[in-house]
Amino acid sequence: MPIRSSVYAACAVVVAALVVGAAAPVAAAPLDPADLGGSAVSGTVAPVAAAPPEATRPGGRSGAVGAPGVDDPFFPLAGNGGIDVQDYDLRLSYNPATDRLEGTATLRIVATQDLRRFDLDLRKFTLGTVTVDGVPAAITRDGQELQITPKRTLRKGAAFTVVVPYAGVPEPVVDPDGSSEGFVPTKDGAVVVNEPQGSPGWYPANDTPRDKATYTIAMTVPRGLTAVGNGALVSQTAAGGRTTFTWRERFPMAPYLTTITLGKFVVTTGRAGGIPTYVAVDPSQARASDPVLRKLPEMVAFLQDLYGQYPFETVGAIVDDAPNVGYALETQTKPAFDRAPDDATLLHELSHQWYGDAVTLRQWPDIWLHEGFATWSEWIWAERHGGQTAQQRFDELAQEPADSYLWNPPPGDPGSPADLFSGSVYDRGAMTLQALRVKIGDPAFFTLMRRWYAEHKYGNVSTPEFVALAQQVSRQDLGAFFTAWLYTPGKPPFLADDGAAAASARLAASEGGGRRR
Ligand SMILES: [Zn+2]
Repeated sequence: MPIRSSVYAACAVVVAALVVGAAAPVAAAPLDPADLGGSAVSGTVAPVAAAPPEATRPGGRSGAVGAPGVDDPFFPLAGNGGIDVQDYDLRLSYNPATDRLEGTATLRIVATQDLRRFDLDLRKFTLGTVTVDGVPAAITRDGQELQITPKRTLRKGAAFTVVVPYAGVPEPVVDPDGSSEGFVPTKDGAVVVNEPQGSPGWYPANDTPRDKATYTIAMTVPRGLTAVGNGALVSQTAAGGRTTFTWRERFPMAPYLTTITLGKFVVTTGRAGGIPTYVAVDPSQARASDPVLRKLPEMVAFLQDLYGQYPFETVGAIVDDAPNVGYALETQTKPAFDRAPDDATLLHELSHQWYGDAVTLRQWPDIWLHEGFATWSEWIWAERHGGQTAQQRFDELAQEPADSYLWNPPPGDPGSPADLFSGSVYDRGAMTLQALRVKIGDPAFFTLMRRWYAEHKYGNVSTPEFVALAQQVSRQDLGAFFTAWLYTPGKPPFLADDGAAAASARLAASEGGGRRR
């Protein structure tokens, strides 16, 4: 449902409107080549080096094989065992005319066990010579598993550098719910969104939200296009009819939150409080976006007051024209929108910077810890800005009949990856928080929300941890409460019976102003 009355004094966000291509380099701080640890992008890519069969490999290898996944119930092959990526350095180029992506990924990794082989996640692409600490490694491919056997066994605790040159036409990843993610072409470039499993569609990753890392993403595009990544723009250089945008996110980031969306954009920079902003808008969406994006600084200030200091060093937005994606996503520091967002959608994705990006689930079935929180954030924004109160929204939803989308699956147990983004995860998840607010009272509730953020910022969480903190803060036994709200299918029997009028007031699944993740 759209948020109805949002009345604001206009807030100045526009400090400098820069037309794409005319912008001067921003804080050109060239990266230390010593940090790169590998070769630059090469124009040609050699065939995959074939690995000899296990039994015929020369001796001297010992230690375990890193697991191909990290036991996520929904995506068992996402992520990999035995490795902890510290930093990604992606040097990429993309030409929309050919749809060809070329790049070199340099990953600094720490072994968390002895490894004679480990995996990364990468779909398709032709590989060049993959090296580990500068020495060519043997490679095998098995679906999205890129299996890397270094010349020498890696010892637990050792830091090492992997360089993966790759090239090809990226294929969008189709999710279990039928939506597209990954590197998705648009009419003037590509929109890059990865929740939950799109990252291996454009770079080799340890694709689990548990393995956060810092990122440098450099993208070279034809002149006239802009490539927008996470964090700060550290350089923008032009040569030979192409422009290279280099972005650095120095705060921990889960792979699914990365982006390097590119196309024709009007760029506006400014500040939200003390935080530098970078907003990129497809010209076709500018008119509809402008009045909403002007509220971005006020929204950031509102969320900081509510939940705690904004977790990252930059903030902004990417508004593209991407009907083939069809949803918005909380890409870190710059939420990505498939079209001009409304207030509620912008607020939703900004609130994810706290709950989702900084405080991140450990397993995908706990998705309500992101979506319930972001949806409730929409409600409290409306409540504090002259709109419907969160309780009014709750009461409205509580009238939904028993066969409504709202009640199943229960938000704490979505059941299958196809239901990861079902409406109940959002709305019944938010109802859970509102019911908790009523049950424990505002002082305890807001203390809980702030402590949850402060104690888990940049880390990973689970629902039982939230329940435990809620009980600690409120000094109440909340086991039955959370079981009823999060894990019990169907409409909770303690809610008022549906009146005859309820059916006529049936609500559409939460997504006014466009679908959002
Ligand atoms: Zn969301």
